[in-house]
Amino acid sequence: GSAVIRCSGCGAPLQTEDPAAVGYIPQLKEEGAQICRRCFRIKNYNEVASVAVNQDEFLRMLGQIGERKALVIHIVDLFDFQGSVITGLQRFVGSNPVILAVNKIDLLPKVTNWNKVRNWVQKQAKELGLKTEEIVLCSAKKNLGFDRLLQEVAERRGDRDVYVVGATNVGKSTLINRLITDYSDLEEELTTSRYPGTTLDMVNIPLDDGHYIVDTPGIVYPSRYTELVTPGDLVKIMPEKPLKPAVYQLNEGQTLFIGGLARFDFIEGEHQSFTFYTSGALKLHRTKLGRADELYADHIGEMLTPPSREHLEDLPEWTRHEFRVPKGGAQDLFISGLGWVRANGQSGAKVAVHAPKGVKVIMRGSLV
Ligand code: GDP
Repeated sequence: GSAVIRCSGCGAPLQTEDPAAVGYIPQLKEEGAQICRRCFRIKNYNEVASVAVNQDEFLRMLGQIGERKALVIHIVDLFDFQGSVITGLQRFVGSNPVILAVNKIDLLPKVTNWNKVRNWVQKQAKELGLKTEEIVLCSAKKNLGFDRLLQEVAERRGDRDVYVVGATNVGKSTLINRLITDYSDLEEELTTSRYPGTTLDMVNIPLDDGHYIVDTPGIVYPSRYTELVTPGDLVKIMPEKPLKPAVYQLNEGQTLFIGGLARFDFIEGEHQSFTFYTSGALKLHRTKLGRADELYADHIGEMLTPPSREHLEDLPEWTRHEFRVPKGGAQDLFISGLGWVRANGQSGAKVAVHAPKGVKVIMRGSLV
């Protein structure tokens, strides 16, 4: 076969097929030094772009972090906490310190008890076996919490390089771009290089102080709705603005459709309220449980949308997840990437969530 042509920036094999994967270049020349789009952006715009790998590749890469002196910033998306958290992280980073950066806090309702959120994150992280030196709530988009994050990085870094890890779409690029702005002279062209001794796809970005920020590819978790939908629908399921919770007083035997993407059944229990935390771009439709299947069959892809009719086939069939919500103490029925339904717990309830096979659906202690 023909020889592999590598990026002269990061060393990744160049390819013209997949813009989301490493080593992408729009056009490949037969010879001469060429750089991938990711390195091109860093060099010319001081800006990293997102690339993605699967979980196995990612874990292999993480193993290399454990052998180095690293400070790890683990970014998760607060809107998709259980979907975006890297549960296997602890085994791989060794004794290196980890800062858990909980991004997109701007999406929670304006009136939010942040102490409660912090405690909630702490509890979830502990249950998942994550040891975190520090939890920082932030918004890369709204530039919130960054002073704290930079301060924590400065305090804990010593002579460590800073590795930034996260699932796709959590805001990793946005956050790294902020770090670059804060740590480097923007008049100078940034350079990139493959991390010495590694074969995988980390990109090294030198900072003014002689240290590096290491950008790692985002992990693709197929259990997130965000990985299943078309780019057009992605924009609809990811909230743009702070969530406006929608409260529904429901009787048993009622169903709510979240667009045409999922369905929530209140099967059994006393009259009570449920609060929907989903993107404002998704319409909720209430119907009787007994008529829900018929409504779906008649209106999916039209009134119940997204998905649109032509993309229906791209989504796996729904499976049904049944839960018993205990009395007292609110619970969230969490649908990874789509949001959650808060069962307010005034009394017990039997409920079910229908979502495409493979999408993570769990009951958790309520976030807000
Ligand atoms: P990456 O795939 O992890 O590198 O994520 P990006 O930085 O490309 O961001 C993914 C999406 O999340 C983009 O649409 C961003 O605009 C959005 N995003 C990033 N940070 C934030 C944030 O703090 N708040 C909100 N609401 N959206 C964010």
